[in-house]
Amino acid sequence: MKRQSIMIIGLGQFGSTVAKSLIELDQEVLGVDIDADIVQRATTFLTHAVVADATDELVLQSLGLGQYDIVIVAIGDNTQANLMTSMMLKELNVPYVVSKAESELQGKMLKKIGVDMVLYPERDMAMRLAQSLTRDYVLDYLQLSNDIGLVEIETPEFLVGKTLIESGLRETYQLSVVAVKTGNDIEVPPKPNRPLTEADRLILIGRIHDIDELV
Ligand code: ADP
Repeated sequence: MKRQSIMIIGLGQFGSTVAKSLIELDQEVLGVDIDADIVQRATTFLTHAVVADATDELVLQSLGLGQYDIVIVAIGDNTQANLMTSMMLKELNVPYVVSKAESELQGKMLKKIGVDMVLYPERDMAMRLAQSLTRDYVLDYLQLSNDIGLVEIETPEFLVGKTLIESGLRETYQLSVVAVKTGNDIEVPPKPNRPLTEADRLILIGRIHDIDELV
């Protein structure tokens, strides 16, 4: 895995969770927050954390932006601070800026500013929850585009005992199984000739309309 230098601005729930995960992945992370108590708490998991107001251009420049491959703007509630910081980071030529949006409008503005990746964690989580609660069988769900999704489903009863070749998933439903999960084991790519059992879960990709036909 590539080791990257990543700055995270805003160490709320989202920013600190991203920071912890990146550290577990052995990435170099600097955390920044305007609130000294939050920075103090973050030092339990971050070796580098500083108190700074990211909306102040001089302060931003003093953080040595040139050393960072990626800057993540995880300022949530304060939309103005989120937009200002994101814009300055792009103007200061940070190669890859990721920003968290709380609304579609904010997301549009971030895109206009030139932010490389806009995240909608709350909207996406809410959508995934709704999808998995309302679709039988669906255990997890990731929407890849308007009409394409990646889902994890329990093996439908009519496929138990059949192999993937015999399943007809591709021909009948235009769905591709990318992995088969059994407990903690994930078979990638899945074996086409092994009969599926009730304990298997299928991870498949396809049009949402076709997934609905199957489940
Ligand atoms: P979450 O929903 O992820 O917890 P919050 O909006 O609660 O998001 O947290 C965002 C964090 O961003 C807070 O810890 C806040 O102190 C920090 N923050 C807000 N404005 C700035 C700023 N101008 N510079 C740096 N950090 C900021």
